[in-house]
Amino acid sequence: MTTSDGAASAASAASAATVSPEVLAALAAREAETRERAGGLADQLRGAVEAAAGSNADDEHDPEGATLAFERQQVAALLRQAEDEAVELAAARARVAAGTFGLCEVCGGSIGDERLVARPTARMCVACADGRRATR
Ligand SMILES: [Zn+2]
Repeated sequence: MTTSDGAASAASAASAATVSPEVLAALAAREAETRERAGGLADQLRGAVEAAAGSNADDEHDPEGATLAFERQQVAALLRQAEDEAVELAAARARVAAGTFGLCEVCGGSIGDERLVARPTARMCVACADGRRATR
């Protein structure tokens, strides 16, 4: 009987894509940080909206109302950034699952652990990222 052999080869195929533990740790840390930041900003935004509603301020004529509106826009912009990053991180997770994580989307080469630890959402190697910046 060779059923156990079949199971063993299936298991080794599933773990063919090896992502270094340091990179996975950096990815997990970034996910936790982004989640926490987005949660804090969402709370802040909710608070700012409530403060504006409670103050009964006229944004155009009350200087404090204008300040509150400006702050609200700033927090909303930061929240959008955090949400964009969460989307990037989810895409990185999907690449880990698909076995394509750490490969440059342009040249197909290895992005490199050092870059991935610093920026787990990186989709391009340094050379391709530099090239794209230079041609812009
Ligand atoms: Zn590349």
